[in-house]
Amino acid sequence: FQVSLPKNEPVKTYMPGSPEQEALKAELERQLANPIEIPMIIGGKEVRSENKEKMICPHDHKKELGEYCIAGEKELLMAIEAAEGAKEEWENMPWEHRATIFLKAADLLTGKYRAKIAASCMLVQSKNAYQSEIDIICELADFLRFNPYYVQEIYKQQPNSTDGVWNRVEYRALDGFVAAITPFNFTSIGGNLSTAPAMVGNTVLWKPSSTAVLSNYYIMQILMEAGLPAGVINFVPSRGVDFGNVVISHPKMAGVHFTGSTNVFNGIWKQVGENLNKYVTYPRLVGETGGKDFIFAHESADVEALTCAIVLGAFEYQGQKCSAASRAYIPESLWSKLKGRLEEEIGKIKMGDVCDFTNLMNAVIDQKSFKNCQSYLSYAKESKDAEIIIGGGSDDSAGYFVEPTVIVAKTPAFKTMVEEIFGPIITIYVYPNDKLDEALKDCDTATPYGLTGAVFAQDRAAIIKMAKALDHAAGNFYINDKPTGAVVGQQPFGGSRGSGTNDKAGSAINLYRWMSQRAIKETL
Ligand code: GLU
Repeated sequence: FQVSLPKNEPVKTYMPGSPEQEALKAELERQLANPIEIPMIIGGKEVRSENKEKMICPHDHKKELGEYCIAGEKELLMAIEAAEGAKEEWENMPWEHRATIFLKAADLLTGKYRAKIAASCMLVQSKNAYQSEIDIICELADFLRFNPYYVQEIYKQQPNSTDGVWNRVEYRALDGFVAAITPFNFTSIGGNLSTAPAMVGNTVLWKPSSTAVLSNYYIMQILMEAGLPAGVINFVPSRGVDFGNVVISHPKMAGVHFTGSTNVFNGIWKQVGENLNKYVTYPRLVGETGGKDFIFAHESADVEALTCAIVLGAFEYQGQKCSAASRAYIPESLWSKLKGRLEEEIGKIKMGDVCDFTNLMNAVIDQKSFKNCQSYLSYAKESKDAEIIIGGGSDDSAGYFVEPTVIVAKTPAFKTMVEEIFGPIITIYVYPNDKLDEALKDCDTATPYGLTGAVFAQDRAAIIKMAKALDHAAGNFYINDKPTGAVVGQQPFGGSRGSGTNDKAGSAINLYRWMSQRAIKETL
């Protein structure tokens, strides 16, 4: 058994008339016409509760997709018991058997369930066909195929032995279960955060985001069809407070795999700190959190490349990627040309329902997010220190729509230039050409984050200078490209500072975090 270096799953384009577009349209209609009730999955069994929440389409909020059951204390304790019960057999299974399950899940996902899975992500998370394809199909399949490959390479590594001494390491799972807490914005992250710890023998409680339960549940179903044994991953949509009190504080909680807001992750660290003397082992805390990702242009930058990076980097998926470009530093000499090109290109963006495949943008995830965007837009409208030059409108009468917006700030410290918004709003600061060093310093220090960033220049010396000045400002650093769209196996993803622990999703570094080595010296 040998896992060969995987190839990235090719991205389908869903061109009009293509068989994949036809299949997807039929699935969208089918799911819209058939609301479903989603149970929890605990110990391999469907579990229902009276406590339920509705699922809606963010771009058409009167349309209901069904309901999901919420786990309370009782069900969370059942899930812990199931995870603990499944642990020994799962951990002691040959790793090749575990790998086979995840590789099969990738094939089911990209094969017979492609349309079903993609449609669910489009409807419940308001993603267009392309955004859904690169997320829940391609990136998730890549995680499921690359992780077994990395694990195989890790397991090959053994220490030196000497005459009469046989040294070896055992790569065991953690001493307890792992809690995976996953976001709405990337379904692939839901699938990765739950399966990566399981790949190396851990059992998991998976708390999906309340606004992405539908698509995450279908991933869970595929894993079970691929042969995942009962209790290895337990699917428990639940409220943060219950999950914190029951699961995060549990003595056998051995690791948290998290993607979400910086605030919530900080809360988890605190809660773990408060419970430190209860745990059997120090829990591993792995998190990818917020960002205020930058585009920084030098005067030698190509304006077309810059235009493309701003439009796609800031507005694809309504700016709701942790990696989205949300602040830009532009030299004065490029500004008037860039401004004209942005007006032209942003003017062409169509926004609306996901079922209309010509829409580049859809809705933001929920009313809370809509209101948050609105409050930043009102702040910018009322301020003397900024001007909204493109967009600025919003309308939630049918769905949660926020226009693609460009704000120009007079100072690099302006609120929308430094605070994470998580919506389709980018703020630009135009700096005098002779103030490059000051602008770089602002870019490096203005926010607590360090997730992604992009620099644009054609002058090689300028690229080197910018890369050095912004050394720790981004865990994923792009040169002459937009700061979104990291690909598994190509650009391992994650940032440091306030953006997380930088344990690179989809890489060997991440998988090491879910292992606990025993080093053995045997005297012969
Ligand atoms: N990996 C995604 C990207 O590179 C971002 C992940 C996130 O939003 O958390 O665009």
